[in-house]
This record gives sequence, C-alpha cells and structure tokens, in this order.
Amino acid sequence: MDERRRIARTDVLLADPRLAEAAGRLGRDLVKAAVVDAQRRARAGEVPVDAVADAAAAALPESASGLREVVNATGVLLHTNLGRAPLSPAARDAVLLASGATDVELDLATGARARRGRSMLAALLERVPAAGAAHVVNNGAAALVLAATALAAGREIVVSRGEMVEIGDGFRLPDLLVSTGARLREVGTTNRTSPGDYAAAIGPDTGFVLKVHPSNFRMTGFTREASVAELSGLGVPVVVDIGSGLLAPDPVLPGEPDAATRLAAGADLVTASGDKLLGGPQCGLILGRAPLVERLARHPLARALRVDKLTIAALEATLRGPRTPTAEALHADVRTLRARAERIAAETGAEAVRCDAAVGGGGAPGVVLPSAAVALPEPYAERLRLGAPAVMGRVEDGRCLLDLRSVPPESDGALIEAIRAAGS
Ligand SMILES: *Cc1c(COP(=O)(O)O)cnc(C)c1O
Repeated sequence: MDERRRIARTDVLLADPRLAEAAGRLGRDLVKAAVVDAQRRARAGEVPVDAVADAAAAALPESASGLREVVNATGVLLHTNLGRAPLSPAARDAVLLASGATDVELDLATGARARRGRSMLAALLERVPAAGAAHVVNNGAAALVLAATALAAGREIVVSRGEMVEIGDGFRLPDLLVSTGARLREVGTTNRTSPGDYAAAIGPDTGFVLKVHPSNFRMTGFTREASVAELSGLGVPVVVDIGSGLLAPDPVLPGEPDAATRLAAGADLVTASGDKLLGGPQCGLILGRAPLVERLARHPLARALRVDKLTIAALEATLRGPRTPTAEALHADVRTLRARAERIAAETGAEAVRCDAAVGGGGAPGVVLPSAAVALPEPYAERLRLGAPAVMGRVEDGRCLLDLRSVPPESDGALIEAIRAAGS
C-alpha cells in the first residue's frame, strides 16, 4: 500500500488536542492552513506520515496577528521600521487591561458620561504644569493638521524657509499643512531667518506663526533662527512643533527642544509625537493655552483624529509609570553595556566590540551614544532576522553587530539563544 494513503485526514488532525486548543486561540483557519501544509509535506516525503500532527503543531504561528516579535539590536533606539518606542511593562499591562470594556468615557461614580481620557490628560498636565490644557491625537502629523485646520484654514501660516522639513518616507510638512486649506507664508532664507522677517509677514490673514524643530538634520555655519521668545510678542499664536516629545530638558540631549521650556518661552501651542523620546504609544500631543487647545479639541476634524482606548491607556501608564525602555536605553551606562556584550560574547564564542548607537526616529541627528556590541560573521544577520524571536542587528564593515544599547537587559538570554540557534 502507498505509505501516503496513511496520512491522517484533515478533520482527524484538527481533533488532535494541541491543534484543537490552538484553533480556540488562533482561529480555525490558521490552524487548518498549518495542517494542510503539513499534509502536503508528508505527501512530498518531507515529514514522516505518522508525524503530520507534530509538524502542524510545530509550524503554528505564535499569534493570530502577522506581526512578529523582534529584538531591536540595531543600536537605533527609536527605529521607525520596528515601531519606534517599545512600550514599558506598565504601559503593556495598561493596554491589556483596557482592551476589554473600560471606563474610558464613563464616570463609574455617577454612571454618567465623562470626558474621554480625562485621567490621561491629567497625567499629561501634571508632567507639564506650564500647559493650561492638553489634547491627544493619532500622531505628530495629525496634531499639526488639526492646528492648521482649526487656526489657519483659508488663512496663512508664517514659517521660516529653514524649517520646511521632510519627516521621512517622502512626507513633507509643507505639503501636509497646505492640504488643510491653509496657505504657507514663507519667510527668511534657508540658513537665516530673523524675528523681523516674521514681523513683516504678519497681517490680518495670519492664522499663526509656526516653528518646526529640524529634528532629522543639522544646520551649522552662517545661520540664524528666531527664538520662541522673540516670536511670542508678535500678537499672533505661536505654534511650536518640537517633534520628539521630550516634556522637560534632558542633559543627554542638549540640542533637543522640550515642551516645558518652549511653553515657558511663550509658545501658545506645542505639538509632539508620543512614540519618540517620550517612549510611549504612537500619538500626537498638543499642549498649551486652554482656549486654543479647546478650539482644536472641539473642531469636527478632532473626531477623525481621536485616539483609541488602547493608546489612552498606554500613554497614561507611560506618563505615570517607571522610566520607559527608551529612557533606560538613552541613559544606560556604557560600562554596563560593555559588560553585557562581553558576557554574551563569552557564552556564544562571539567577539565584544565598541560601537556607536543613535537615537533615531528622525531625532537628535548629531548625538552619538557610545555603546557596545556583539560582533558576528555577516551571514548571521539574515539567520537572526529569520529566527523566533527575530533579531535585527546591523551590518557594518562586513560584520553583523548586535548593539546592546537598544536591547533591554531582560532580552540578553533570548539573544544568547538566538545566536546559538543561528550558529547551529
Ligand atoms: C516626527 C516628527 C513629526 C511627525 O510626527 P509623527 O508622530 O511621525 O506623525 C513632525 N514634526 C517633527 C519635527 C518630527 O520630528
């Protein structure tokens, strides 16, 4: 008899306890696909005919989502392709809790409707007392779109020619702003813009003056920019896009603007991303004078840009919780990183080397963070990327470097196992 006729039928295989349990967790379609593929491999002689259930169970995905867990060993702390900031354990717990029914818009004491995300907004204002009010939207770009739409549609935004920035993947802030129906009134030159340039451009059509932090490039030499303080007396709102979401100054990043300092200098609104240096979920923060923030929050477009309960939960836990993984990585002591690299290298037969890490996420382009890496032969890069969990390193001078500044110390064990698996 043909051996292959002994391959179990699909319904019989789906009754295997492991596969039945998985069908409850992952959905029947994903499990069935794994079963059908294992049967095909058995017919092709790649799997013993009596081990089809084992093969199907081994090939099951870890989750019903196509997204895979990745250890970020690139040395780029905020890697856009890896989802920027990793959430803190506190934020992950909060997301899980909020994922069911939750009182995001309900006062449990009275049973009445309550302001959406009020406790998260309170957390934001506690961290930035200089702000009169706060509002949160989908991302930094959405914060700018809302400001432009609510304050300057059909009118002018006065902006320096040195701050017409492309943020990445072909997205240009000037195009984004113009898409709202606002007109850009460009002032100054690429390298020099003075307060007088702004003053001369301001008139009855001005919606606001916009300052954009050139977060992903640096301009040096014969340059001049107007400070927020110099612009705050011009009689029109000053909106400052700080980009990275630092709420207060950080001595490790002296050139990085923060919300508290900009508001103290006279900014009427500050906008920023939540998933860059703040270390939280993707969202856009709007902080500033209460009447302006309310105008934005009450604009019809605000409904289309509003954040979901998972983001609200993650952001509040990021703000109230312990130091974020991003802050830990940014402030990690280089001697600790070297000791970790040496231990991992000793356990895996690799070499520990010194290297430089970067903030990334289009932020702090001039900042070099001294770091330490485990160096492996270049072919490891692909094998590690295809492992579970996937490990993403960087290839430098013909070697695969696993930079430990972007790897949380809890992942060292997983990294050692991944290196061993990739080497066998
Ligand atoms: C990152 C960035 C943005 C865009 O923010 P997203 O959250 O990616 O939408 C806008 N402006 C500046 C200065 C930035 O650095």
